[in-house]
Amino acid sequence: MKFGGTSVGSVESILSLKRIVEAEQEPVIVVVSALGGITDKLIATSQLALNGDETWKEEFDAIWQRHHEMIDAVITDTDRRTALQNVLDDMFEQLRSIYYGVFLIHDLSPKTQAAIVSYGERLSSHIVATLIRGGKRINSRDFIKTVKKQGKHVLDAELTYQQVRQTFSALSYGPENQLIPVVPGFISRDRDTSETTNLGRGGSDYTAAIIAAALGADVLEIWTDVDGFMTADPRVIKTAYTINELSYVEAMELCNFGAKVVYPPTIYPVCVKDIPIRIKNTFNPDHPGTLIKQKIDNDRKPIKGISSIKGTTLITVTGLSMVGVIGVNRRIFSTLAENGISVFMVSQASSENSTSIGVRDEDATRAVEVLNLEFAKEIVTGAMFPMNAESGLATIAIVGENMKHTPGIAGKLFGTLGRSGISVIACAQGASETNISFVVEARLLRKSLNVLHDSFFLSEYKVLNLFICGIGTVGGNLIEQINSQYKKLKETRQLKLKVVGIASSKKAIFNRDGIDLRGYKELLEQAEPSNIQRLKDEIIGMNIFNSVFVDCTASADVANLYQDFLEHNISVVTANKIAASGPYEAYHKLKKTALQRGIKFLFETNVGAGLPIIGTINDLLNSGDNILRIEAVLSGTLNFIFNTISADIPFSETVRLAKEKGYSEPDPRIDLCGKDVIRKLVILAREAGYVVEQDDVEKHLFMPDAFFEGSLDDFWKNLPTLDADFESRRKVIDNEHKRWRFVAKMEGGKTSVSLEAVGPQHPFYGLEGSNNIVLLTTERYKEYPMLIQGYGAGAGVTAAGVFANIMSIANI
Ligand code: ADP
Ligand code: ASP
Ligand code: MG
Repeated sequence: MKFGGTSVGSVESILSLKRIVEAEQEPVIVVVSALGGITDKLIATSQLALNGDETWKEEFDAIWQRHHEMIDAVITDTDRRTALQNVLDDMFEQLRSIYYGVFLIHDLSPKTQAAIVSYGERLSSHIVATLIRGGKRINSRDFIKTVKKQGKHVLDAELTYQQVRQTFSALSYGPENQLIPVVPGFISRDRDTSETTNLGRGGSDYTAAIIAAALGADVLEIWTDVDGFMTADPRVIKTAYTINELSYVEAMELCNFGAKVVYPPTIYPVCVKDIPIRIKNTFNPDHPGTLIKQKIDNDRKPIKGISSIKGTTLITVTGLSMVGVIGVNRRIFSTLAENGISVFMVSQASSENSTSIGVRDEDATRAVEVLNLEFAKEIVTGAMFPMNAESGLATIAIVGENMKHTPGIAGKLFGTLGRSGISVIACAQGASETNISFVVEARLLRKSLNVLHDSFFLSEYKVLNLFICGIGTVGGNLIEQINSQYKKLKETRQLKLKVVGIASSKKAIFNRDGIDLRGYKELLEQAEPSNIQRLKDEIIGMNIFNSVFVDCTASADVANLYQDFLEHNISVVTANKIAASGPYEAYHKLKKTALQRGIKFLFETNVGAGLPIIGTINDLLNSGDNILRIEAVLSGTLNFIFNTISADIPFSETVRLAKEKGYSEPDPRIDLCGKDVIRKLVILAREAGYVVEQDDVEKHLFMPDAFFEGSLDDFWKNLPTLDADFESRRKVIDNEHKRWRFVAKMEGGKTSVSLEAVGPQHPFYGLEGSNNIVLLTTERYKEYPMLIQGYGAGAGVTAAGVFANIMSIANI
């Protein structure tokens, strides 16, 4: 049973350790790490001493203090406590002398450093041996033996195994003898020089595995601070969960790629002896944890876990003469091996003219040096290029033995990454098909892990992250609709619509775990003032996968952000007409960017609010139809005005009424000048495949231009002067049984808006209130055009249209 740093790091955990070990019915050997964080502290303090920094003494005192506080808290028997304090203080005296020596002579050899770090486990093992009933400290340096190879201390397995057996056969341990051996992990002794060495950071796991293997234990238990081996590092991925069973191969692959929960060399010794490993949580001993063994029940999950290594440098060996030359690879790898540099990923294209090698950042400079030296001759002749090193990268691996029986895993992997805007710099999959590893920019690591974890492990729920900008009538309505649909979508569609940002014109709130929509208004009120730049920086900076920016404003500044968002793989859904009706070039670029990146730029509500007009035009076009003509009434305000005008209600009065009822813009001239209709028409024409600008639209307005100049007050004052003229024109059409409609038209790319009088036979004649209508004449719908009609304005239907656009993204 090996207990890690956190398991001996606090009073609570060390008492839990005591309970766990004492409850054991079988003979056990306990291996312990240093108190959590102590190894790091020992190293940091030695650096202070080396640099002549007096504060090493304070750090040393803090280490002393920490151990003594632990003893005071957990060892209740006074005699035992005093004895233990004396043992520890002797060791502390030695340690202080070593630090002092380092401080005086400004020298810290690897040998001295190894001596210093060994105190962590030496101290902790004394505490644990005193604490547990029947505990007896056994000095692991007497039987864990290393030998120096290529400058590194590696285990002398044969000698060690033999000495482990010898040591423990001489001990009668087990419950009946009330004896539990307690062994310091990590530390060892050089076979030849007897100097203190160690098995590398995290090496206590390895100590335990070596003892388990040498003695043929039934099981190796690794007690740590999480509920077992998890699908990903739980510190990075909140939704990671415990894997019940793993094969040795899977565990090895995951550990090699950074799953810190088990030190990689640990698995091999027990694997060859077929000794299962169980990972357990000292803080939650009832949890079954993870069992690692040879053969596991087939659970049909293709992927078991994801792990990653930060600090990757990719070195590319390339040159024209490499093609087909036998031995280049041999030279690369032997050079690196001779210099003790380990390579954890290799990728070579079948063209054979470049090989990329993943090494750790700290090995990069040396690796480049030795490779340049090895290939110096080829580089001089120009046959090969000097080594190219790219740092700031991270390597990720997805692991699972079932991958080899499941086609499409690589497709899903790279598809998921691609949709999230993450590009893969290098990748490798061995023929064993238990691991696909790939390199990405380090800044994209967290995002990569999240998208992959979600797509491979949490496929039961799809998550869409929303940034909602604008909380006026449409935005406010949308937030209410999302809030009321959330539960249903989660249950019936396995979709979580998570609002991760909300912005008003003055303030913004963000929360990557999701904002509580019931209280968003209060949260916004309490938030700090925000502005457009901050909005953009925050959203891009949050770097969340599967995200959608939802614009419920009418702001040009907000519309100006779309291009940047799309370039960062954030889809855009907007009720704001400015972008889609602005300069064609910019509109086209937005659409192209979305298409290239496999995301969406949707603006269905720009025309006819919730009516399915743009989507219908897209469907027709995509299925090979051609839009020949569009005729439409697209302004609810104008339709209301021309439906209301009568002998009793003059024109100026209808405008006033439209304003009063909230149909018109606050400044009704925006409706009356046709601007709003022109924008909508431009959008429809563009979506129908024509290149149209607002200035191209032929305008036949029903009011002289002079009315649109000057102040709003003047406008209201002058408006009644038009009444007489309107009334005489109205009488004429009334006699012909016609009605006015402000019609937007597109025919073969030519666009116009005009006030028309339509008779009872015309489909627009009966259009009620503020409704909209669109008539599409296409190659397929020629004789009888397609008609779309209904409410063309209103916050509720517009918000619903925006919602529908969001849902269409959730469905891809
Ligand atoms: P100990 O001190 O017990 O040896 P470590 O800190 O070395 O503990 O390892 C446990 C830690 O490993 C966990 O707290 C967790 O943060 C991290 N970890 C990384 N990847 C994984 C994973 N796939 N499953 C579980 N833990 C992981
Ligand atoms: N204490 C050592 C370290 O922190 C060994 C271990 O905990 O496994 O690396
Ligand atoms: Mg560890």
